[in-house]
Amino acid sequence: MLTVSELTAHYGTSQALFGMDFAFGTGEVATLLGRNGQGKTTTIHSICGVVRPSGGAILFDGEELVGRPSFRIANLGIGLVPEGRQVFPNLTLWENLVATASNHLGHADPWTVERVFDLFPELGARKGSMGNLLSGGEQQMLAIGRALMTNPRLLILDEATEGLAPLIRQKIWHALAEIKRQGLSILVVDKNLSDLLRIADRNFIVERGRVVWSGNSDALRADRDTLHRYLGV
Ligand code: ATP
Repeated sequence: MLTVSELTAHYGTSQALFGMDFAFGTGEVATLLGRNGQGKTTTIHSICGVVRPSGGAILFDGEELVGRPSFRIANLGIGLVPEGRQVFPNLTLWENLVATASNHLGHADPWTVERVFDLFPELGARKGSMGNLLSGGEQQMLAIGRALMTNPRLLILDEATEGLAPLIRQKIWHALAEIKRQGLSILVVDKNLSDLLRIADRNFIVERGRVVWSGNSDALRADRDTLHRYLGV
């Protein structure tokens, strides 16, 4: 579904990506792992058209994404749950969900507000509350729901459980497992390794702007040296 090849990216004269290479298939959950500042967010932003890569290719179901504006990439079926949630503070929870709702790909059974409330029942009770009055956990669930309302084929989550209480984190992992079960492809950046590895099919460790290790979750759990060297666990 997604093939990233020889991807390079710069911020001014400073290079952040040095030839990222990875790929995963439809219906899979893939992860980008690694310490802070290694290029995970830059990779995600390159896929979504927020950062313009300086070289390489990103093929999404055979379509080249490099060079397309972010709204066109979103219309192709890529939904982003950005780092820091970024819910609209002056819209209600319900308005946040419907503001970007779309079904560009014509899914037969599209996401609706009701389906999002089934996935996250706590959101239904807060639907009239303004975005800035929601708790961090509610905002994070809303950010996921808002991305789902665009009916993506690929959902990308950047640090979706950061700073949340363990109970809320578990609800989010449970929801992601359910979304996976429904067949959506997912690319995740997260630091909660044990939860992440439970739902992941393929893992890619990023170090200094390139992939230095890839494999399934069993292989990573068994590779103590790699865990220690690149992830500090
Ligand atoms: P984190 O988990 O801390 O977000 P990351 O692995 O996602 O880390 P990136 O945020 O992609 O890493 O950063 C990769 C490199 O690019 C780092 O050296 C970082 O300092 C640099 N960088 C990121 N964003 C910018 C920016 N807007 N301007 C300049 N340099 C940046």
